[in-house]
Amino acid sequence: MLWCNNLILETVKNIIGKYSLCDNCLGRQFALLITGLSNETRGKALKTVLLMRAHKRVVGNENKEENLKLIEKIARNGQFIPARKTLEKYGIKVDEKKDCYICMGIMNNFDHYVKLVKNIIGSVEFNNFLVGSKFPSTIMEKEDSLRAQYKLNWGETIKGEFNRELGKLLLSNFEDKTVEFDRPEIVIVINIKKDEVELNINPLFIFGRYLKLIRGIPQTHWTCKNCNGQGCEECDNKGYKYKTSVEELISEKVIEICEGSGSKFHGAGREDIDALMLGTGRPFVIEIKNPKKLFIDLDNLKQEINAYAKEKVQVIDLEFSDRDRIRNIKANAQMARKTYRATVKISSEIHENKIKNLETLLSDVKIDQRTPNRVLHRRADKVRRKKIYSFSVSEISSNQFIATINTQGGTYIKELISGDEGRTHPNVSELLGGVECIVQKLDVIEVDSKY
Ligand SMILES: [Zn+2]
Ligand SMILES: [Zn+2]
Repeated sequence: MLWCNNLILETVKNIIGKYSLCDNCLGRQFALLITGLSNETRGKALKTVLLMRAHKRVVGNENKEENLKLIEKIARNGQFIPARKTLEKYGIKVDEKKDCYICMGIMNNFDHYVKLVKNIIGSVEFNNFLVGSKFPSTIMEKEDSLRAQYKLNWGETIKGEFNRELGKLLLSNFEDKTVEFDRPEIVIVINIKKDEVELNINPLFIFGRYLKLIRGIPQTHWTCKNCNGQGCEECDNKGYKYKTSVEELISEKVIEICEGSGSKFHGAGREDIDALMLGTGRPFVIEIKNPKKLFIDLDNLKQEINAYAKEKVQVIDLEFSDRDRIRNIKANAQMARKTYRATVKISSEIHENKIKNLETLLSDVKIDQRTPNRVLHRRADKVRRKKIYSFSVSEISSNQFIATINTQGGTYIKELISGDEGRTHPNVSELLGGVECIVQKLDVIEVDSKY
């Protein structure tokens, strides 16, 4: 033990003899040798023991001059007040200020960083945070070369220490906040070189279900393909294809209330532009970028959205969520059952019994759908097998009827009716003897709410 202790002290003596190091930067080189202490305390302890040993030798007249010189080094390079005070007894004054060779005073300046952070955070709302930092490579290089020179293998990184110590200080400065390593709401990054703080606010996710009450608006914003949003003749110089979208009607108020910089809309599948979305609505997650307000009253948000999107879109069941939910609703959208109501127009007169018979022919069957012609430009051409759980007809006249269809998610209803030039099989047109059938009106009346 004594041998080990001496070895450490000899190393510290050699380092302090050559380099000016603050308590933190000295202590950090021995971080792994003892837990439950800060590096600052470790550094102070090492300087203290080294000073005591040197002074004991001075008092005992053992290499007095050499040891007085060492105490001077501890006072100068170590910036160690007790060493100065000890020297004063021998009439030696040391009052020069030296910056730490490694950190240049950074580890002594936490109050400054706390102030910077508090300034930038202002009124941003959050429950938890994490501290990160960007250090100039010169600082790391100095530390690396010191470690190599003295064969120091017990150190932690300066970044690790800085982030932890600043985190502790911020924790005591903020009220009711916690440090979160996995999914912090905000990441506070100190840029040492620029002496600036960057605030990375993670997105806020809100889950909900929407109803679309009018036809003719897409789920998400459609940029005009012709001009790429610049505005051209084709889009009436607007840059978009449709005046508004479900996404825009919802996000407008969400961004405003959360004070976000933008948003992204994730729907559990989508209905056609000319279809209504009724019943209990379609699940969605809205992702709000850089939200400055997290403590949102969701009831109030719902009312604001519904007042703004009145008679076009309504939202229900809003709740705070996370990124996993997006994957979840996307995956479920392909499986979840949906119920559609389609008004089917028939090109020639068909006997009522034949139409009624569709209920038997199309309930509890599997159909093969090759990617419809109308979406071929954006989806791969392949055959998808989909399940029709039930197919019922009502309001039958000689050339029109209403079909209520309960199917597996992702089924193309218009093509189930028309056949899409044989790309969907079987289909209503074919089952009615090859007459032309088209969907005149289509509504989604239920999306399975199990997710
Ligand atoms: Zn230092
Ligand atoms: Zn255009």
